[in-house]
Amino acid sequence: MELVAQALAGNRRALARLLTHVENNSAQARAILAALHPHTGRAHIVGVTGAPGTGKSTLVNELAKRLRAQGHTVGVVAVDPSSPFSGGALLGDRVRMQDLAGDSGVFVRSMATRGSLGGLAQASGDVVKVLDAVGFDVTLVETVGAGQAEVDIARTAHTTVVVEAPGLGDEVQALKAGLLEIADVLVVNKADRPGAAQAVQALQGMLDLGRDSAPGRGEEWQPPVLQTVALDGVGVDEVVEAIAAHRAYLQRSGLWMRREQERARSDLKRLLERALLEQILAAVGEEELQRWVERIAAREMDTFAAVQAMLDVWQKNHTPSQ
Ligand code: GDP
Repeated sequence: MELVAQALAGNRRALARLLTHVENNSAQARAILAALHPHTGRAHIVGVTGAPGTGKSTLVNELAKRLRAQGHTVGVVAVDPSSPFSGGALLGDRVRMQDLAGDSGVFVRSMATRGSLGGLAQASGDVVKVLDAVGFDVTLVETVGAGQAEVDIARTAHTTVVVEAPGLGDEVQALKAGLLEIADVLVVNKADRPGAAQAVQALQGMLDLGRDSAPGRGEEWQPPVLQTVALDGVGVDEVVEAIAAHRAYLQRSGLWMRREQERARSDLKRLLERALLEQILAAVGEEELQRWVERIAAREMDTFAAVQAMLDVWQKNHTPSQ
């Protein structure tokens, strides 16, 4: 795996090619991910999510700059399910890259729809693994917090930053999208706009409510509610500090390892599902599958019975012959 060796040695063109393999789930993708696996597990993966227009891209850009100034290398994965473009530099990247251009310690990758949101979640998870393996200290994963798939992407992070902004119609958008539960750090961006203080109060109130309903959980992390003006960089240092504090908390409490295991578990189950499905479909065969489909559609048989029948076919193929 020449490409893997080159990427591990810091070659950015090799890295870009690895990412394309992984994003497209090419024939080599499995071997690439397997070869990289022993090198992963060091990066701090930080999800940044929130409604469109809250200022996520602006904030991520500022966070990347601060982290670079502290000497960390930074990967940025911008996931936009609504965009049909992928891989290349989107307009947002060019805007982003103006500040960070020419700095080999930063790598930005945009990802767009992969046909399904589930596919996007998987592909972005794999991209994050590649960036981890080649040595980026921190990877910022930016997603639009609009639906379950985006929440799932955010969930794969060690630390999730939820971004709000005043004056976007809803008082608190995070609540609607179910993001509050997964927030480790809450940011009210556009603090230069009217209504920021109320948004902070509303969020703080909801966090307190949540705590009251689940008391006695010991030394729990209390998500801070911070204010930023990402456009001017105001308050961004505090966000960087909160992210670092959360990492320290995860490590101190043993949660870091638990989150790693959760990720390993969901990866394992996902791949098992895929492998089993492939095996079962191969054992049954396309013609046979079509026959089951026709019988279900004609109401001659229910889907559960068809599943059981297909499982029987598969198991028979797998029982050692007597
Ligand atoms: P995203 O859709 O959440 O990624 O939001 P963007 O980062 O693209 O920002 C949306 C718009 O809000 C852009 O025009 C930004 O320039 C602007 N913006 C970002 N941060 C701030 C801020 O702190 N204050 C104000 N007033 N505008 C901001």
